[in-house]
Amino acid sequence: MFFSTTPRPESLRAIADVKLFPYWLDDPAKPESTPPLTSQIETDLAVIGGGFTGLWTALQAKQVDPNRDVVLLEAGEVAIGASGRNGGFCAASLTHTLDNGLSHWEKELPKLIQLGRDNLDGIEATIKRFDIDCDFIRSGEIGVAVEEYQIADLHEEVEQAKQYGVPVHFFDQNEMRARINSPSFLAGAIDMSNAMLNPARLAWGLKRACLGLGVRFFEGTPVTELEERRETILLKTPHGQVKARHVAMATNAFPPLLKHLSLYVVPVYDYALMTEPLSKAQHDAIGWHGREGLSDNANQFHYSQMTSDGRILWGGYDAIYYRNNGVDPHFENRPASFALLADHFSQTFPQLEGLRFTHAWGGVIDTCSRYAVFWGKAYRGKLAYAMGYTGLGVGASRFGARVMLDLLSGKKTELTELQMVKSKPFPFPPEPFRSPIINFTRWSLERADRNAGKRNIWLKTLDALGLGFDS
Ligand SMILES: Cc1cc2nc3c(=O)[nH]c(=O)nc-3n(C[C@H](O)[C@H](O)[C@H](O)COP(=O)(O)OP(=O)(O)OC[C@H]3O[C@@H](n4cnc5c(N)ncnc54)[C@H](O)[C@@H]3O)c2cc1C
Repeated sequence: MFFSTTPRPESLRAIADVKLFPYWLDDPAKPESTPPLTSQIETDLAVIGGGFTGLWTALQAKQVDPNRDVVLLEAGEVAIGASGRNGGFCAASLTHTLDNGLSHWEKELPKLIQLGRDNLDGIEATIKRFDIDCDFIRSGEIGVAVEEYQIADLHEEVEQAKQYGVPVHFFDQNEMRARINSPSFLAGAIDMSNAMLNPARLAWGLKRACLGLGVRFFEGTPVTELEERRETILLKTPHGQVKARHVAMATNAFPPLLKHLSLYVVPVYDYALMTEPLSKAQHDAIGWHGREGLSDNANQFHYSQMTSDGRILWGGYDAIYYRNNGVDPHFENRPASFALLADHFSQTFPQLEGLRFTHAWGGVIDTCSRYAVFWGKAYRGKLAYAMGYTGLGVGASRFGARVMLDLLSGKKTELTELQMVKSKPFPFPPEPFRSPIINFTRWSLERADRNAGKRNIWLKTLDALGLGFDS
């Protein structure tokens, strides 16, 4: 089934009253922000960024050494970045997909799979230990085929998963539609190693846990400049300064304080909608009683979750790069993407005709050419960074944070010696070449989706080099 490229009037009506704000952040459970930094302070560890990577860094630093002083500086509010805007898929995989892991780190893949499982167990244990109410559920995630050729891809994924002991099971069309009923679903494969959750609630719970362990938070505090001193780094902010022995940079797709990192990361905007709660009759019409995550197997894919209060989050498809690494709040509103998403939703679930959307939003993703987090150090080992999750950082960010802490310790550890940690992604070309190359790649991916998955010479070349563009 091809997804439409021109939205129908009824789809526009379904989004007519949306609130242009992330559903997850529009929640009475949102905690008060902490005041900005207005003085000169010193610390053992300064964390820049209050998304999952920054929060996990601060939490794990305190858990390892409760005497270490830890400060977290956030430009806006905790969870205002990708961490409060995502689909809520919390994957065990650290490598984006098994296939991507195979193409980059075949030898250490079994170890990375085990580290990924331990990481997800660690997330679940933290949620229990700090009593974080974030609807965490090990419901698994279903990849669906919406075109004939994708069925073969699913079979291949299941076979590959079997070889590596990853619990993925195939559903034929009847089994798939018995779980989640859409006339466009031809088959499915469920990966039982993944969980689903409410991301903003997790981020706020981690903030509460950090505060309880003594982490000092300063929200509304952008770090504008870093200056190396002999034993410390000075972090400058509009109304105060921090002298830090170590710095963990967790700023994701936002303009990096270390300029050269722009070579490795492309900021890409991804968009999502949330429906009103389904009535019992609507819910029964589509099934989906297990809260499994859902995504289709195209290059330009949709992802979806059923929330605990019976709404459907529906996002993806468009992945928009704005010229010159554009990152700006006004890019979060893209009516054309919202209209397409609404139209694709009604194509997928025609039984839900008349269901309206309540929220629409966008968020920025840190795309890198290897689709998986990478790390590095600067200022003679006093600063470490982790970025490049490429749309799959809800789970992997805890691992990204652990590795940063190991790098800052200056010691060789099991994690610092991983090839995945030692290597960097292939850089993207700078502007003015970046825009046309990305747009040509997107055009090629769209064409492949409309041509039974057949990839043109450009995509085949990128595949052969282990490179790509994804969200
Ligand atoms: C629409 C959307 C859907 C997604 N869906 C999924 C999904 O279902 N599953 C999944 O695994 N991943 C998903 N992702 C990706 C996932 O959300 C991210 O990988 C993850 O949240 C990254 O966390 P982070 O802490 O590294 O970044 P962020 O959450 O973006 O946090 C970075 C923080 O740094 C702050 N900051 C930036 N610069 C400065 C500065 N100079 N000084 C101080 N603070 C600064 C920002 O304000 C921001 O709060 C999605 C992303 C988007 C946008």
